[in-house]
Amino acid sequence: MRGKNAVITGGARGIGEAIATVLAKMGANILIWDVLEDQARETAEKLAKEHGVKAAGYSVDVTNGASVDAAVDSAVKDFGGIDILINNAGITRDGLIIRMKEEDWDKVIAINLKGVWQCTKSVGKVMLKARKGSIVNIASVVGVMGNAGQANYSASKAGVIGLTKTSAKEFASRGVRVNAVAPGYIQTAMTDKLTEEQQQRMATLIPLGQLGTPEDVADAVAFLASSAARYITGQTINVCGGMVM
Ligand code: NDP
Repeated sequence: MRGKNAVITGGARGIGEAIATVLAKMGANILIWDVLEDQARETAEKLAKEHGVKAAGYSVDVTNGASVDAAVDSAVKDFGGIDILINNAGITRDGLIIRMKEEDWDKVIAINLKGVWQCTKSVGKVMLKARKGSIVNIASVVGVMGNAGQANYSASKAGVIGLTKTSAKEFASRGVRVNAVAPGYIQTAMTDKLTEEQQQRMATLIPLGQLGTPEDVADAVAFLASSAARYITGQTINVCGGMVM
């Protein structure tokens, strides 16, 4: 990974920060694109200091084409190009279908699905021209199995899996691979809100018997992003302790 430039959307915190940390440990230069501008810069500064790589944080809204295009221009100017794109930015606005507000449907689809298309389109142009690159999209197991109360989220993540396969087919002839990682229940701020009892109940659904960590997801992402996965494209790896088989 040394000398490679990796963009991580939503990389200021959570799973995105864990992915940025693993890639920095492997020697990659890190570009964090996040709406949380200060946190993106702080995370980038920490990674540069701790791992001796080049790193920078940028204010980017993945739903806004002009914002993403400007970030791509900065990446080319400041880093010389983009080798790896991790489409990680994502949100939840949960609710049962019959109670879900239209704005909650639209916002989740805009960030989780359109955002992946937008970044793939803008960064893809750079990668196709360079005839190399690796893209990893963060989906979710609920995109595979559904989940009551998450119509917008599960539809967006199922969409990400379809988009992964189409981008893989469109980009393969130019040496650009596209894969996805679908995390299960991961211990983050999102799942910390659940009660101890709810977390224990969840763990009983997982053959490996415990919730995953952001690092469990990050290691699978780093593998797919790296040349160790050079003959893998269009695939989705479930990182879920065996919950989905
Ligand atoms: P976090 O909320 O901790 O991190 C997501 C980051 O993305 C935040 O910094 C967020 O900023 C940022 N973001 C939100 N909207 C945008 C936008 N329009 N443009 C750029 N950045 C944006 O989430 P997690 O780390 O928990 O999740 C990361 C990914 O993993 C998501 O795609 C999620 O769907 C997926 N996932 C998570 C699971 C889990 O158990 N946690 C399980 C399965 C999948 P802000 O806080 O301001 O919104």
